[in-house]
Amino acid sequence: MGRDLSVDRKRNLTLVVTHQCNFDCRYCLQKHEDVYMPRETAVKAIDMLVDGLSKIKENPRAQISFYGGEPLLARTEIEYLVTYAREKFSKIKDLKYGFEITTNGLLLDQEFIDFAKKNRILLALSYDGVAQDEVRIKRGGNPTREIVDKKLDMLLKTFPETIIMMTIHPDYASTISESVKYFHAKGVRAVSLVPAHGNRVTWNDDSFAVLSSELEKVKNLYIRWNEGENYFRFIPFENKIRNYIREKDADNAMCHFGCHKLMVDADGKYYPCNHFIGMDGYSIGSVTEGTDEKKIASLESKRVEAKDCEGCVLRPRCRHTCACANHGHTGDMSQVSALQCEYEQLTIRLADDAAAVLLAGENPTFIRRMYKE
Ligand code: SF4
Ligand code: SF4
Repeated sequence: MGRDLSVDRKRNLTLVVTHQCNFDCRYCLQKHEDVYMPRETAVKAIDMLVDGLSKIKENPRAQISFYGGEPLLARTEIEYLVTYAREKFSKIKDLKYGFEITTNGLLLDQEFIDFAKKNRILLALSYDGVAQDEVRIKRGGNPTREIVDKKLDMLLKTFPETIIMMTIHPDYASTISESVKYFHAKGVRAVSLVPAHGNRVTWNDDSFAVLSSELEKVKNLYIRWNEGENYFRFIPFENKIRNYIREKDADNAMCHFGCHKLMVDADGKYYPCNHFIGMDGYSIGSVTEGTDEKKIASLESKRVEAKDCEGCVLRPRCRHTCACANHGHTGDMSQVSALQCEYEQLTIRLADDAAAVLLAGENPTFIRRMYKE
């Protein structure tokens, strides 16, 4: 903590293009107001990003993510902004860049998928698999699985590496391995997963035990599906394994209050991450005033390591310093929830079990992925 990471601030920008959504997921914590980011606000944010990038001498890299609500409700704006940003980026020597959108899939069509392909947009699909119709329903209550499933087929034809983003509601933790098997059978090769948190869900010992046993099953599938030349990326395990092999501290991946990532709300205010959007006291500047360095320093200074974590051997591999996750779970940026702590221990243990088997065997694709890519 307290390191100067400010040079990275110019590289990762997330634009909250709308607060609105066409879904009503049972764990969602957003308000879904009819708010859209004006074009001039987005353009100012991109100009600020470009200005910062032009001062980076070596290996400039940039990523713009479009976030909601459901970002594709602002599809026309996204298309305009991607074209605008690419035009600006083309003037920066050796710049590597890309765009990212996580969508619920409802508004996806082939035309937008083709636009994404042409414009370096990585599309990730939020889809809870077998539990979809129980937890990810349309506004008004209609089911979504059948339609999202068709969108997934459409996506996979153009982007075989499409990542599925699963959120686990505690009442449906028992469906995890079934869902992962379902995705694998459809040809999906990358799945990410997070347990839902916040005041709309309650985890207890029973539901966590189910989560734990389901992830144990996923570990066995992960081992089987990564044998020989096969591959299947289960992101919660992959991140733990790869970072360990490459000696990367989990703390490096954090947003560090706008140092690694900057989130721009529809009204032009900057926030360190999506969790803090609209919260009094957490804005760290705006498109008109730039970043508020004093505020960033003041927020960083309040982020202290949890007492319980001192001396824990898993510290370098655990996301216990993630201020937004901590705040989301416990209301305190520095306090790790019991759920988060248990989940971190679980994923590290399962990832290590899987890695021990896969690294000991003849599994060239897995080894190449972990050490080289
Ligand atoms: S799709 Fe995303 S933003 Fe919309 S209700 Fe579901 S979780 Fe919330
Ligand atoms: S595993 Fe638990 S105690 Fe250890 S660093 Fe992570 S949150 Fe802290």
